[in-house]
Parts: sequence; structure tokens; C-alpha cells
Amino acid sequence: MAEYNLPQVSTGDLLREAVAAATPLGQRAKAAMDAGELVTDDIVLGIIAERLEREDCAEGFILDGFPRNLAQARDLEPVLQKIGQSLDAAVLLDVDLDILMKRLTGRRTCSKTGKLLNIFFSPQEDLDACTEQGGELIQRADDNEDTIANRLNVYREQTEPLIQHYREADLLKTISGEGEMDAVYARLTAALGLA
Ligand code: AMP
Repeated sequence: MAEYNLPQVSTGDLLREAVAAATPLGQRAKAAMDAGELVTDDIVLGIIAERLEREDCAEGFILDGFPRNLAQARDLEPVLQKIGQSLDAAVLLDVDLDILMKRLTGRRTCSKTGKLLNIFFSPQEDLDACTEQGGELIQRADDNEDTIANRLNVYREQTEPLIQHYREADLLKTISGEGEMDAVYARLTAALGLA
């Protein structure tokens, strides 16, 4: 986002905003999100279509958490056609299951700065800096073990088939998502031919 001045379009963030604002759409999405299930495709497609038509997406965008199943991938196509854009790549960030569990169960957001932290991986001084400034380390409602287990089942059943889908479309780039953020970012830009 910062280096290429592109917006990150995250359906999860957009849905959480709708839930927090208690809009009709947010109210429809909340139960599925709390259970770690997917929100219905029509809701998510509506959100994405509206977001991608905004001016800041005209030069490109990064999709985060979307598409989550084959129907969404298929329905994305006419949305992209309408705005005259196409996908350059689909990135698979490959992470070992044990590490993934720690990233999810340990994830916290500083209520003061919005910074994303992790109780297992962030330096202790970064965690302390949040609380010392009067902030709180907030855990996402769906980052508890039961919901995470379901989110991973949903991933296996519904999202994993997208790997083959984008491989066949010759768009798949697979990189290791393990290790430090800077190292992952370097792998990402190399895989996308930007480095
Ligand atoms: P995320 O922030 O991407 O982990 O998404 C959090 C939750 O929002 C998911 O567990 C789903 O309930 C919902 N969600 C996010 N993106 C999608 C999507 N593309 N399709 C359906 N549900 C989604």
C-alpha cells in the first residue's frame, strides 16, 4: 500500500466496519462472522463491487480476504470487466499450521494506535508501549480457538480450491509467509516481479 500507493481492499475490514456501525448489512453478516462461517456471497459481492468502483482503485488495488470461494472468484470477473481491470496475480502465502494458530490466537490490535501486534511474536517493548500509552491490546471477536478451528475448516473446504483455480489461470504465485514481515515482503515483491 505505502510503496505502490494502492488501496488494500479487505472484505473482512469492510464487514467489521458494517458490524460496528450496526448497518442492516452488518446485522446480516454478524452471526456468520462470529461463527467463523463465510458471509453470503451476495453481501460480499455487493460490498466489493461498490468498493472497487471508487476512485482510489482506478490505478489498481490489493484484494485481501476475497475471493474466498469459487463462486466469488467467478462473480468477480464481471465486476473487474466493468471497471476495465484484470487480476495480475493471486498470491498464496504459505504458512505452517502451528505458526498460523499462534498468529491468530496471539493477534492483538492496540486500541490507541491501531497497530497490529502479536503476544507471541511482537517484541515485548512494542506490546508494553501500547499499554504504557494508555492503550489496550484488543483481540478480534473471531480470534478465539473455537471460531478459528471453524475458519480453518471453511478455508480447507471452500477457499483452498482457489489454489487450483488460479494455478490453471496461470496467475498463482506461491511464497512462504513464514519469518519476519520484511523477509515475507521481499519474497512477495520478487514473486510479483516488482523487486
Ligand atoms: P478476515 O478478516 O478476512 O479474516 O474475515 C473475517 C470474517 O469475515 C470471515 O471469517 C468471514 O465470516 C467474513 N468474510 C471476510 N471476507 C469474506 C468473503 N470474501 N466471503 C465471505 N465471508 C467473508
